Amino acid sequence: MPENKYKRVILKLSGEALAGEQKTGFHLPTATAICESIKKAAALGVEIGIVVGGGNFWRGRSSQYMDTVRADHIGMLATAMNAIALADVLESIGCEVRVQTTLPITAIAEPYIWQKTLRHFAKGRIVIFGCGVGRPYYTTDSAAALQAAELSADILLKATMVDGVYDKDPNVFDDAVKLKEIRHIDMLTGELAVLDGTAAAMCRERKIPIRVFNLQDPDNIYRACLGEDIGTLVND
Ligand code: UDP
Repeated sequence: MPENKYKRVILKLSGEALAGEQKTGFHLPTATAICESIKKAAALGVEIGIVVGGGNFWRGRSSQYMDTVRADHIGMLATAMNAIALADVLESIGCEVRVQTTLPITAIAEPYIWQKTLRHFAKGRIVIFGCGVGRPYYTTDSAAALQAAELSADILLKATMVDGVYDKDPNVFDDAVKLKEIRHIDMLTGELAVLDGTAAAMCRERKIPIRVFNLQDPDNIYRACLGEDIGTLVND
């Protein structure tokens, strides 16, 4: 049986990752493949917290017709929808899961309580976090960094649509080179934007390693949870 390197990880899944080819909404086969990979890692004893985005349901922040705060409120509710849908898929394949949200919607999900999360981990449950940090102007990247810090995760795993960090945009430059490892400071200089600035600063300050990897192959979640050297590692 393979050995897992990490005791506890925070996995950041964007809303887009759950939309599959259709690019919008919740695509059950895509989500199921992702969940199967999470299940395999959890079965090895890795404690997994998932911070989920909402971009597949709502991208209203830049709308000129709506106040940003309002748009962000809706965005946070979109992340809660994904959290609930993801929990349902994980449960359907036999995982024990809890959804916690930073905005109280207690008829549907638990409020986020640090000690309760730790208790869930101790009982082998996967915890999905909805509503980001619970305030507008933030992103779920920031929420993921915050959860990784607050829950003393060994690493923040950022599943993306590209297979790591490149020295320049691989969609524009043929000679772009994938970087196996970069430093936290590199993310703050703008060129290698793995996370948004707030999240990057938090990870740097708390010395949280980040692995950026491709979700085109959902099994990469399992590999990343085990500590395999895939994608790009951000570390000091
Ligand atoms: N959001 C917010 N505060 C947070 C996290 C998210 O206001 O702490 C809102 C914001 O409108 C954001 C949306 O929720 O655009 C969805 O989150 P995000 O863009 O991070 O999702 P992703 O791009 O990862 O799917």
